[in-house]
Amino acid sequence: MTATQPSHGRILRPTAKVLPEHARGHNRSLVLQTLYRQGPQSRADVSRETGLTRVTISDLVAGLMQDGFVIELGQREAARPGKPATMIDIDRAAFQIIGVDLSDQHMRAALLDLDGTVLERENADRAGRTGDDALAAVVGLIEGLVLRATAPLLGIGVGSPGIVDADGTVLTAPNLAWTLLPLQAMLRERFDIPVLVANDADVAVLAEHSFGRASGDVMLVKVGAGVGAGLILGGRPFYGSHSAAGEIGHVVIGTDGGPACACGKIGCLEAWLSVPRLTEQLAATTGTEAEQAAARELILREAGRRLGIILAPVVGALNLSEIVLSGPTELLDGPLATATIETLRKRTMAEFTGDLALRMTSLAQDDIVLRGAAVMVLSGQLGVS
Ligand SMILES: [Zn+2]
Repeated sequence: MTATQPSHGRILRPTAKVLPEHARGHNRSLVLQTLYRQGPQSRADVSRETGLTRVTISDLVAGLMQDGFVIELGQREAARPGKPATMIDIDRAAFQIIGVDLSDQHMRAALLDLDGTVLERENADRAGRTGDDALAAVVGLIEGLVLRATAPLLGIGVGSPGIVDADGTVLTAPNLAWTLLPLQAMLRERFDIPVLVANDADVAVLAEHSFGRASGDVMLVKVGAGVGAGLILGGRPFYGSHSAAGEIGHVVIGTDGGPACACGKIGCLEAWLSVPRLTEQLAATTGTEAEQAAARELILREAGRRLGIILAPVVGALNLSEIVLSGPTELLDGPLATATIETLRKRTMAEFTGDLALRMTSLAQDDIVLRGAAVMVLSGQLGVS
């Protein structure tokens, strides 16, 4: 149990309308959300905060205590005469969450508490494993963490590369050689607890939104072995008509050619910007130290300019004010990011439609998908974020 105020950013908006038959569930989430964001308080405080009556709050809290989600913490120091109020909070130690990040050559998994803090880690080198072999590695990672959990598990959240539909089926993930893999259903069957699987960049933007103080209109560009983006618009995650929103990696930039891409096209964003591609290009520079430094700066600026070109119409169409980059700081944070924002400003009406900010994520690169997976489970299971 932590007594500190949780230091979270923003709340995700519910994605559906509240029907009368769902009112109780909605109100339960409202109570949990209030406690989750604001920390310990009295039932009267929760009633004031939510606009629900004292009787309703007492009834909901009794149910939540019975289910193990809420605990009483004892009495507040009485500032006024009379009976001191009993403080309640979400029992932040009562449940744990398993988060899995498959976006890299290094498969990462972690046990997290309800505040999104990493408690335990399990990693595995993918080492070229694909198909069923890769799936077995994922199951192994989760098994290891299930054994190390010290509280009941609220659920498992997985960020996978590729395109993942709303049911957690990986439609395609070329790096893992997965096609139409019902990963969410398979893990649910195997571990018998709630499982949510989504695209890694879509998961990362949830972490940025909840823990990184992003606004309700943000695009997170995740640069790793591939390049993808996650979108939150008007406080809601946005997945697009076929779950592939933000799939900008294989969009060709410009009409002037460029490097060949693994997908067969020429000049895809990924061919300019992926970590393997940039690293390889930077390593190939020759000449004196000064010449190499200049060549490296050119390579990074050109990659940043290409990213700016591809983002400009998106920023213009959606009137985005915030772009967040996630990936290796040594590659992204410097000439690359500078060239991206310069290109964006040049190519959009940013000077008329408000300030456009581009920044690096403040969350650790290795943890952003793991923590986003926790947000996904919290939001899916408890309605809190
Ligand atoms: Zn491509």
